[in-house]
Amino acid sequence: MRWLQNFMYGRYGIDSFGLAIIVFYFILAIINIFLRSTILYILSLLILIYFYFRVLSKSIYKRSQENMRFLRYYDPIRFKFANWKQQFRERKYYKYYTCKRCKQRLRVPRGKGKITITCPKCRMKFDKRT
Ligand SMILES: [Zn+2]
Repeated sequence: MRWLQNFMYGRYGIDSFGLAIIVFYFILAIINIFLRSTILYILSLLILIYFYFRVLSKSIYKRSQENMRFLRYYDPIRFKFANWKQQFRERKYYKYYTCKRCKQRLRVPRGKGKITITCPKCRMKFDKRT
């Protein structure tokens, strides 16, 4: 693997954006097993070429800028998913509400009957059954 190390020296390699590209490529490739579309085939090939272009690129600064731009869009999505996962795990113990005025997410314990919830952000009060 020494030749590979030498070859990759000074080249960009894989980052989060690169991973997303290759995952996207595989998804397209798998879909195209069923669709057998020429356009999709060319598109997935171009995506693969772009993936390798980035991995082998020597413009490290430019590539990392791309990655940062990608993460700016991707991080909020990842954050939302992590939130949903947590809510799902805790669904036995907590109920979740969204404040109607300020959209703040609120978590209240389950099984307390009818309670008045006060939003910690905007102080709005509303009644809920938990
Ligand atoms: Zn509120």
